[in-house]
Amino acid sequence: MRQLSRRHVLAMLPTAALPLAASARDAWARPRRNTFAITDVRVFDGRRVIERGTVHVVGGRIAGVGRCRLPNGTHVYEGAGRTVLPGLIDSHVHSYDEAGRDALRFGVTTELDMFGDPSVLAEARRDRRSTRKLERADLWSAGIGVTVPGGHPRAQDIPRLTPDDDPYAFVAARVREGSDYIKVVLERRADFKTLTPEQAKAVVTAAHRHRRMAVAHAEWTGDASTALDVGVDGIVHAISDQQIDDTWVRQFRRNRTFMVPTLSVYDCGAGADSLMADERVAPYLSETQYDTLLQRNPRCNGGWLVDAQANVGKLHRAGVPIAAGTDALMPGTASGASMIAELALLVGAGLSPVEALAAGTSTPARLFGLGDRGRLALGRKADLLLVDGDPTRDIDDLRNVARIWKNGYQVDRTPPPPTED
Ligand SMILES: [Zn+2]
Repeated sequence: MRQLSRRHVLAMLPTAALPLAASARDAWARPRRNTFAITDVRVFDGRRVIERGTVHVVGGRIAGVGRCRLPNGTHVYEGAGRTVLPGLIDSHVHSYDEAGRDALRFGVTTELDMFGDPSVLAEARRDRRSTRKLERADLWSAGIGVTVPGGHPRAQDIPRLTPDDDPYAFVAARVREGSDYIKVVLERRADFKTLTPEQAKAVVTAAHRHRRMAVAHAEWTGDASTALDVGVDGIVHAISDQQIDDTWVRQFRRNRTFMVPTLSVYDCGAGADSLMADERVAPYLSETQYDTLLQRNPRCNGGWLVDAQANVGKLHRAGVPIAAGTDALMPGTASGASMIAELALLVGAGLSPVEALAAGTSTPARLFGLGDRGRLALGRKADLLLVDGDPTRDIDDLRNVARIWKNGYQVDRTPPPPTED
């Protein structure tokens, strides 16, 4: 399917699914300011479910959850048959160009970039503190990850840690650029170079000295073992080359290491195919989202997902924190949309739907210290996702988006027009 364009895929869908029909179905009037209430709605507050309640938003922040006395004249959305939840947090993306805008159309209101352009970080920091109307997801970022000459990712022209460099100075430069946490790339493949354990240890120590978390790219047991040995705070992929035993689980627990498994990059495109074939999802995808969903990793094999899901299930049952992340912009993923598939993959790994939703909301907010989001609680940002049905029982109900709000302002779900070629 690699050669298909967005237009071709749209042409294969039933016409009833096109955005025009979706907006015609949407009969409610829009409020003028970011103040409103949703009543008679099932509430997932980031941790627990309230079967019937109200969410009150004033000036882009949550002013009440559960039973609320609403001032006369409050604009009310009827929530019967629907579920409201915190805007989703994707804990592993690569956010370039319009990715943050694409994310918002699928209810992902915060993204954690795990290797990206540091020039956007000052603006990202201003935006995420604001409650004004914004057209893209809020961003936290590792900025430039720590890798070596000849190491992963190869293509990019970036500063790299050489044997002569002081790892402490290298990390200090990332902190000056605005990195919110430090990403260390451990990828020991035949044709890739990677950090020595001593370098990795020094990077982690330097990050902690700067009061930054250190997270690791590690996908295979060899690299994950190094990551745990040098004391990273989190591993931002799953271990996907074999099933781990209890010794591993004990080390995760002893070190208090969390995991962001990015199962979407181990399913060889199955999740991507399900998103593109779904009339509840496809009409809202941009050309860029189609392009990346249609790409495939030629190295992917069916064993990856089996081992990755088994390992995630084992760690989760032992109490290791799991946060949801997609690695969006990698082949077979798309910014925002892939979170829907990722949360279903976490359910497939053994998390309950409520636990998977927590992995996409309150858990990353806690692990990464994101503060005013990830839960529907007094004073938090009114980043909200309203869906038909009950994703706390059937995670696929996340596909039934009714409305999305960022900072209390409703998000326009119309994708950008495709470029003519
Ligand atoms: Zn990544």
